Amino acid sequence: MSSDIRAADETTLAEAGLLLVDNASILTPTSGFLAPGYTHTINAYRGCAFAGALCGTYCYAQHNRWITGGKPWGLYGAKRRAREAYKDDYDRIKKPRRGAPGPLRIYMSSSTDPYLPQERTLRLTRSILEEMITRPPDVLVIQSHHTMVGRDIDLIADLSSLCELWLSLTVETDMARVPGLPPHASPPSRRLSTLQTFRARGIPTQATLSPLLPLADPSAFARALEASCDRVILDHHTIGDGSPGGWRTRRTGFPDRLAAAGFGEWNSLDKMHEIRDLLAEVLGESRVLVGCEGFNAVGDTRARTEPSR
Ligand code: SF4
Repeated sequence: MSSDIRAADETTLAEAGLLLVDNASILTPTSGFLAPGYTHTINAYRGCAFAGALCGTYCYAQHNRWITGGKPWGLYGAKRRAREAYKDDYDRIKKPRRGAPGPLRIYMSSSTDPYLPQERTLRLTRSILEEMITRPPDVLVIQSHHTMVGRDIDLIADLSSLCELWLSLTVETDMARVPGLPPHASPPSRRLSTLQTFRARGIPTQATLSPLLPLADPSAFARALEASCDRVILDHHTIGDGSPGGWRTRRTGFPDRLAAAGFGEWNSLDKMHEIRDLLAEVLGESRVLVGCEGFNAVGDTRARTEPSR
């Protein structure tokens, strides 16, 4: 089945001013933050439709000029031939004409969300997952801010039996709306329920508290995480945005907005350490990972934790 974008969808995209991105390749070799654990990232869309949501205010991808081209952060386009490009890339890596197959540990996605509103009709992410059933990577982390991933649970359950797979949802706060900031891409409580549903299907799950935002009830949040996912990964904007001391995030005004809303103490790394200790108490040390090491705890670098069930 071709994953090419249908003519009707092309019209919709064109009317919305979005590009159709021709791509011979869709796997991008990793560098920097994700390089210790992953060989490639995969992004079916260029830019992100959640730019206006809460996560869009702190989003680290908005600092990448190669993606933004200097434009304000937003969704710029959708990729043609997503499925075919994955197939071609996979065969190049895993079935080379010469030499041994290479490793393939994929982070989906690093500079967009795999479950944007446009995915409902375009189904590019789904088409890639379908191709992965016959061409499974060694490791796949599906990272999203949206509960739409539940649409693909059967497919993801099948894929999970073929490779090391983690369903990863960001749950950076327990607040349905953080005062002074835009609404979430999807409600945190529903993300926790989605994680729980996947976990009950036997699919390894992780919640990324990245970056950690103010919590209304840290103890209750820790208990909810304990029930919902196999492990959590904590991060903070002062250490996780790829710039010394988090200057990129400071430049967006995000920490100032937190402070103006009365949450200034959450800009301190001390707060992250406090929450880490609380989570470790409730979930156990092995289920609480931090920062770059935590995000890269897959495959051979998965040193510290096994999911406890
Ligand atoms: S979903 Fe991810 S890529 Fe999109 S705006 Fe939010 S943090 Fe950025």
